[in-house]
Amino acid sequence: MVERPGRIEGKVAVVTGGCSGIGLATVRRFAEEGAKVVIADLNDDLGAQLAEELGGTYVHCNVADKAEVDNLFKVAFDTYGRIDIAFNNAGISPPEDDSILDTDLEAWDKVQLVNLTSVYLCCKAVLPYMLEQKSGSIINTASFVAILGAATSQISYSASKGGVLSMTRELGVQFAREGIRVNALCPGPVNTPLLKELFAKDAERAARRLIHVPMGRFGEPEEMANAVLFLASDESSFMTANTFLVDGGISGAYVTPL
Ligand code: NAD
Repeated sequence: MVERPGRIEGKVAVVTGGCSGIGLATVRRFAEEGAKVVIADLNDDLGAQLAEELGGTYVHCNVADKAEVDNLFKVAFDTYGRIDIAFNNAGISPPEDDSILDTDLEAWDKVQLVNLTSVYLCCKAVLPYMLEQKSGSIINTASFVAILGAATSQISYSASKGGVLSMTRELGVQFAREGIRVNALCPGPVNTPLLKELFAKDAERAARRLIHVPMGRFGEPEEMANAVLFLASDESSFMTANTFLVDGGISGAYVTPL
């Protein structure tokens, strides 16, 4: 039998929020396809365990802290000598971020920091390495809520994801001739701890949302990981500044099947 190399064989990939949900599925998928993975998260026990299992590296990193983000990419570069892929994915969706009428400034700021400022910090930190190499693929996790409005608001979350989407587009355009691609992953609702926490206690809330998804189900983290793998690999070599929707059809729907 002929052994095929992995789809990102030998590439070095940094994944933030790599200990749970979409990040975790992606770290596993990247490793399966031959990448050296650098996992960044706050969950040190799980992170160390994962790094050992996958033969990668774990770095404790609060993505909202500039010094910790700079250190993350420095460790990745110092360990492996290059950085090919940055999946800037860590994010939060806390219950105190709700309707604009009920969301105070503290709740607003916390979500902006972890979801939007973090992506600015990660892109700013990784770009010099990629510019030096004249190659790289950055994937930032936005969301379908960056392009669709909801009456069931999480105002800071939606605004943060809109910011991630615009920033990604701009960076994709700016660095297109330097060999660096920058794309946004826009997941629909995905079955992860983040979503489960939101709907666990309230089946009616989940059903209210599912009715808008043509496929009639939430996505799975592995389905996001496959999309991220495509954006990370050379298979997507003519794609940049893209809004990559992986959403079960939600953004294309008007009336959904019964
Ligand atoms: P998750 O809660 O399962 O995982 C998020 C991970 O990020 C956790 O391991 C957590 O420890 C880590 N994290 C949180 N704050 C951090 C910080 N300050 N620094 C470093 N790590 C931190 O979430 P998920 O559902 O996998 O979400 C991943 C991304 O996808 C997020 O940006 C989220 O907004 C986005 N997203 C999720 C959905 C969904 O339905 N689940 C839909 C659209 C977009």
